Amino acid sequence: MRLSWRRSSRAEDLFESWITQQHQRRVLAGETTPSGPCPDEGFLRDLARKSKSIALSDPRIDHTANCPICMSRLLELRGKNRSRQRRVAFVSAVAACALIAASVVTTRYVVERKAPSANTAVVAQTVNLWDVGTVRGEQPGQLESVSLPAASVRLTIILPHHSEPGLYLVAITRDQNGNGVVAEGTATTVANGDQQRISTDLDLRKAEVGPYFLSTTHEQDQAAYYYPLQIK
Ligand SMILES: [Zn+2]
Repeated sequence: MRLSWRRSSRAEDLFESWITQQHQRRVLAGETTPSGPCPDEGFLRDLARKSKSIALSDPRIDHTANCPICMSRLLELRGKNRSRQRRVAFVSAVAACALIAASVVTTRYVVERKAPSANTAVVAQTVNLWDVGTVRGEQPGQLESVSLPAASVRLTIILPHHSEPGLYLVAITRDQNGNGVVAEGTATTVANGDQQRISTDLDLRKAEVGPYFLSTTHEQDQAAYYYPLQIK
């Protein structure tokens, strides 16, 4: 079997994944004959991460693609990688927010007593996503030019139609893949008629002026939606 990292069209993807499934079924049923010895765990880990250090001509790839033991271990590692990446990101964000919230509560008390007019004005902003498309993978609809100030922001988001209630992770990121997180917070929805709203505090005081993305991720769905945004 030839393993291919290249990106292809959706129809090709479906066809390839079907072929891959058929092949995997045969391998796991012991209907194929692997050549050479089983590679070590480190190699399977690298392969699961699609590490660039592995050449596609490496004979160990051919072995793994035909060995029921290595194949099942590889599938296990790939499944773990995928769910771990998402879970770690979400759990650590939630944990960080809980810590921040706790320290905000204690420091706010101290700050209020010491300096009632401390220079940490919080700017309230509302972003209305009610009419923005929510189909996963689709480009968000034309968004009214959303901009936030480079300040401490109390951000309220009116979530798009049919949004699930629950806990959301809100982040301001540099790109649409969730890289370059500038600020993030968690918020639980509050219903207002048909609408679900979330509010969270974001510290954008150190953010550079420029284009960013606002992302919302539901705790269970875990698909992140990205909306273009400017920090001014
Ligand atoms: Zn093997």
